[in-house]
Amino acid sequence: MRRDLPLCVVGAGPAGATAARLLAQRGCSNVTLLEKKSWPRPKTCAGGLGPRALSCLARHNLLNDIARSATHITGLRFTSPSGKSASLGSPREMALVLPREQFDAVLVDKAVKAGVDFRPDTRVVAIHQSQDAAIVETQSGDIEASAIIVATGAIGGRKESNLPSGNSAGSIMARYENMPHTPSEMEMIYSPRILPYYAWLFPEPSGCVNIGLLAKSEHGINLHALFDHVLERYFGSRLGAARLVGRRNGAPLRCDGKIGKVVDGCVVLAGESAGLVNCTTGEGIAYAIESGDLAAAATVQAIDGARINKAALVEYQRTIARKFATTLRFSAFFRRFVEGPLFPAAADMGTHPLFRKISAFVLATV
Ligand SMILES: Cc1cc2nc3c(=O)[nH]c(=O)nc-3n(C[C@H](O)[C@H](O)[C@H](O)COP(=O)(O)OP(=O)(O)OC[C@H]3O[C@@H](n4cnc5c(N)ncnc54)[C@H](O)[C@@H]3O)c2cc1C
Repeated sequence: MRRDLPLCVVGAGPAGATAARLLAQRGCSNVTLLEKKSWPRPKTCAGGLGPRALSCLARHNLLNDIARSATHITGLRFTSPSGKSASLGSPREMALVLPREQFDAVLVDKAVKAGVDFRPDTRVVAIHQSQDAAIVETQSGDIEASAIIVATGAIGGRKESNLPSGNSAGSIMARYENMPHTPSEMEMIYSPRILPYYAWLFPEPSGCVNIGLLAKSEHGINLHALFDHVLERYFGSRLGAARLVGRRNGAPLRCDGKIGKVVDGCVVLAGESAGLVNCTTGEGIAYAIESGDLAAAATVQAIDGARINKAALVEYQRTIARKFATTLRFSAFFRRFVEGPLFPAAADMGTHPLFRKISAFVLATV
């Protein structure tokens, strides 16, 4: 294989940073990682790293670096649609929380150390494919690439490549300081107004908390009004002394629950731009890292002398389906259950002392 074949990764979130690092670590010496924002950049995300993310970080030797700066979570406070609450403890660590500007900076740093040419402030506006290569058109000039991994997140994919993007939920979140909370406990609230999604409070390592909600992205839904309702109904008694840090932010979240087309010629999609998000919990960080890994492996395997074998790259579509299709289908099934008539009673049961262990297990595995 020609080690210096020009390879491009678009988007420096966990999918892109992982793909770029692994391309470099697997022997490619000409890898460019393009990011439209100045770096490090904030990202509207709760920064929760659940069991799947923790084992994924451990496999990638990233866990120690992340755990050093993160909040360590050993409990979950769960509120059912009827308003019943229970604290579900765990004998071992359930999750970590780290703001994304810090988390993503660690991953990009690793990529740069592996030899990746990282270019922030470089927005990709289009990808033009020809027989043997592609041109990545950016606002600061064109870049030639033999293969491109597009990892541009929830709204990415469609515009930069010719691949489709899917359905999204809406979200809104904000950071508060001086908010009374238990630093080792996450809070999840299944408010009837936002089912099948939920609201949360995640403790951050700075002592702040992030509070947010996911909601159906339907015409006429006012996310700010929903957020005001959730704040008042579930956090009102604690908000007195709390202070908003910065402002509220919203972002879409892919919630397809199935995999669309992720390969087009020499372009492959990874992470959320490939629709890889748990559509019940909204978790996407682990899927992003795992698919970044698979995209890099597929690209390296498709290098055939001085060109990319596009027929070999098609295998990536099957690899992604094998890895994620069942999980995504299960998450879509669980979302339908949460939306259905049985969920409120089941959730109430989950707060009962007899069932707390089972609920903690279900919430940790969906
Ligand atoms: C409110 C909210 C809360 C969430 N909470 C969690 C959570 O607690 N745990 C969890 O696991 N997941 C969570 N998620 C989901 C998670 O944030 C995403 O699934 C994850 O970030 C996907 O990673 P990615 O690398 O695919 O994309 P992203 O992290 O979105 O990264 C994409 C990158 O591409 C860049 N980009 C976009 N377009 C271009 C372009 N044209 N040119 C160059 N660069 C471009 C963007 O600036 C960005 O840096 C949450 C999402 C939301 C909206």
